[in-house]
Amino acid sequence: MPTPITISDIFSAAARPFSSDEQKLIAEAYRFAADAHRGQKRKSGLDYISHCLHVGKTLSEIGMDAKTIIASILHDVPEDTEITLAEIEKKFGGEVTYLIDGITKLGKIKLRGTKEEYYLENLRKMFLAMAQDIRVVIIKLADRLHNMRTLEYLSPEKQLRIARETMEVYAPIANRLGIGEIKGELEDCCFKYLEPEHYAETKKIAETYLREGEEYMNRIVKLFRGVLEKEKIRLIDITGRTKYLYRLYQKLKLHDMDVSRIYDLIAIRIVVPEIADCYEALGIIHREYRPMVGRIKDYISLPKPNGYQSLHTTVFGPDGRILEIQIRTQKMHDESEYGIAAHWMYTEKARPSWRNLFFRRKASPTAPPKELTWVRQLKEWQKEIGRDDKEFLEGLKIEFFKNHIFAFTPKGDIIELPEEATPIDFAYAIHSEVGNRAVGAKADRKMVPLDYHIQNGQVIEILTVKEKKKPSRDWLNFVKTSTAKSHIRHELRHNEFQSEK
Ligand code: MN
Repeated sequence: MPTPITISDIFSAAARPFSSDEQKLIAEAYRFAADAHRGQKRKSGLDYISHCLHVGKTLSEIGMDAKTIIASILHDVPEDTEITLAEIEKKFGGEVTYLIDGITKLGKIKLRGTKEEYYLENLRKMFLAMAQDIRVVIIKLADRLHNMRTLEYLSPEKQLRIARETMEVYAPIANRLGIGEIKGELEDCCFKYLEPEHYAETKKIAETYLREGEEYMNRIVKLFRGVLEKEKIRLIDITGRTKYLYRLYQKLKLHDMDVSRIYDLIAIRIVVPEIADCYEALGIIHREYRPMVGRIKDYISLPKPNGYQSLHTTVFGPDGRILEIQIRTQKMHDESEYGIAAHWMYTEKARPSWRNLFFRRKASPTAPPKELTWVRQLKEWQKEIGRDDKEFLEGLKIEFFKNHIFAFTPKGDIIELPEEATPIDFAYAIHSEVGNRAVGAKADRKMVPLDYHIQNGQVIEILTVKEKKKPSRDWLNFVKTSTAKSHIRHELRHNEFQSEK
């Protein structure tokens, strides 16, 4: 049985303390959810509410705001109990309800059949588009994290399906939002189910190496602390770091599974108050331990494309062992662990806008990788939004995707459409002949009229006739896409021309 959890764990885990009013509200959400889920059990045998508390705890650890925590505790109430969104709204207000509604909708997106990169990319986009508020995505990631931690209680088929979906959709999204902490654990959980043999092998290597490494690491931490403090460097933290197993495996694969060729298996992380302290600490360490040529990286002056900042160096440490050292400020540290979520921790002090969130770093001279395209597009759009907090909150909604919906073909391909698009738009988006020959449509296996408004995430099936057929002129009254309009007009003109002859 997993360890039980209580509401006070959420408070004690908080990266940013809650006010007593906030604590009261969170506790109230807990009582409400516990009542609603009463009698329901998780597959692990624990009360259902334990899941809700774990999700809340993860979010509190990464510094999310009280409303997000409240929504996360209540996130499964509308789906799994008798209580409606309206009742939640009455008790907890519109913003919390809006978040919960978003989470429920997101839950309906599932990885289907095909696995081509373009499909996966669209699925990730769709996920973000449907969320509309980035906090919804973050709650969903925490929800998935707890489900992954407790995956052992499900059937082997479900384990595989959920692990694959997590690896293909959730982990990449966590990565894009810069939440390394969640990304790393999600990947490790998936790794265990998707590649059990490699997982076991990697785990063994890590355990063997780290067991002997741990004592060494503790000694190094003490040594470094002494050296730095003697030079009056103000240390916030200095710790030894172990690598996530999946990432270690990726590295091992590059080096024929030879662990001695991995230099950052033992890494020491040094957190200091100011940027100047980072460089000073680096100088002191290089004076004491010889750095390895070509391994000094200044990601403070030249951040990585995803915004990551730190100084990295690899040195020949005591006993001739090679170790990696990362030096950063607290803020850089939080951003690298919690990504976009770190923003909430700094909101109150700095009152930043989305603009600051994305633009405070110096531009990187290297072009961002392709997968960051949507982030770039989001940034472009965000350039236009405002300065104060109200506008900032508005900005949380992913307006970039507003007015877009995504629907699936029965084979699992994703078709992007404007809002209020109809099955005829969908048909022409697939192929002009599918459009021309359309006679009926199904949405999620139910017959719908041809002017039906497709909902986000629906599977649309177009019924067609074999013989050649011209489109109906009436369709022009309701189609939304210019593709459909121009195909219909073209086909009608063509037909008129033919009959005149
Ligand atoms: Mn859940």
